[in-house]
Amino acid sequence: MYDNTFLEGLMIRYYPNLKLLLRITARILRFSHPEFRDNDRLSPVEVEFALRKYLQHIQSKHFPNEISRLQRNLEVQRSSSLHQLRPFLDENGLVRVGGRLQHAELSYDSTHQILLPRHSILTSLILVNEHHEQFHCGPQLLLASSRKRYWILRGCSASRKVCRDCVMCNRSRPTRMIQQMGQLPADRLKPQPPFVTTGVDYAGPVNIIGRKTRAAVPSKGYIALFVCLGTKAVHLEAVSDLSASAFLAAFTRFVSRYGVPCKMYSDNATNLRSAAKILRGENDKPQQWPLGRVLQVFSGTDGLVRVVSVKTANGIFRRDIRKLRRFPLDSDEYVPYRRVI
Ligand SMILES: [Zn+2]
Repeated sequence: MYDNTFLEGLMIRYYPNLKLLLRITARILRFSHPEFRDNDRLSPVEVEFALRKYLQHIQSKHFPNEISRLQRNLEVQRSSSLHQLRPFLDENGLVRVGGRLQHAELSYDSTHQILLPRHSILTSLILVNEHHEQFHCGPQLLLASSRKRYWILRGCSASRKVCRDCVMCNRSRPTRMIQQMGQLPADRLKPQPPFVTTGVDYAGPVNIIGRKTRAAVPSKGYIALFVCLGTKAVHLEAVSDLSASAFLAAFTRFVSRYGVPCKMYSDNATNLRSAAKILRGENDKPQQWPLGRVLQVFSGTDGLVRVVSVKTANGIFRRDIRKLRRFPLDSDEYVPYRRVI
């Protein structure tokens, strides 16, 4: 009544509707199987029987040598792509994955999946049907879902292709905006010695071990990155915490090696703004300058900070950055005085 060419023609005729294909095939199979003619309505057993016919046809077409060896109770050849999967024939003559999950609490289909080739109409039909049943899922979910019953050779690329070729997924995929990058600042394009213009930022947290002993306990620390804007050279310094004094210690070590930079760029983190400052009075003596804390910095169109907001005992003021002096700390003994951050 039917042969392999007939099955191939049906699959092409009803692609990609697997359910319709199986129902029509089940109706046709009733001619050669009178036991199914008792009821007018199709039963699930008939539909499963039709699917099995397609699976047997595809496997005999793509794995003829493997099936002939398995029928003779021989292992498949080492050169075969199925060798690693330890295949075997079930009672219906389908090639299934042997695997190592025999004692798992899974269904028989999930433990020993039916093997399918990468390139066949039936594989595409099954994947497309699964893709629709999983509400147009992505490739990874599609592959995981299909492996509940089938093991598709090179399944990753097969599931990716199904998702890529789906019209509905393509239509609903939004086109991303592409941000146009701005012009590079002049300091990035000017030839200059290393670290004349420097950017600084923190990376981390990372675990830092202070001493090399057996019972050394790692503590949380950070990495200060000093990046030269002209040459892209990078200098790394270990920092113990996020305090201003820890940053000043790292900055002192950096300056000791490369000299004082002319210009520094940062992301205006509070610890990088050097916490304590002194407001310098116009005519007052240095001993009478009020103590304050920098709350906010205001950068101009060129990215340089010239105005800051400072909180003192008398209130919050906006002042020119040239009127500020950093509060000298105990650890500042060797720090060069000229710094703007
Ligand atoms: Zn889709």
